[in-house]
Amino acid sequence: MSESDDIAEGILVAVAGIFVGFLVAALLSSKTALCPVCKQTINSGTPTCPHCGVQLKW
Ligand SMILES: [Zn+2]
Repeated sequence: MSESDDIAEGILVAVAGIFVGFLVAALLSSKTALCPVCKQTINSGTPTCPHCGVQLKW
């Protein structure tokens, strides 16, 4: 193994880490939404709002 292989592997790991970070951020941001009735933060896809109890259609 040469030194350039180690550098290439390091860059690959760094790029993969950045990619995973963006992916996790995108997933987290898409998991919450605002209730259209009470404007509270709710979990995206939940059948009813936990704050005001309104039934939600996604
Ligand atoms: Zn609500």
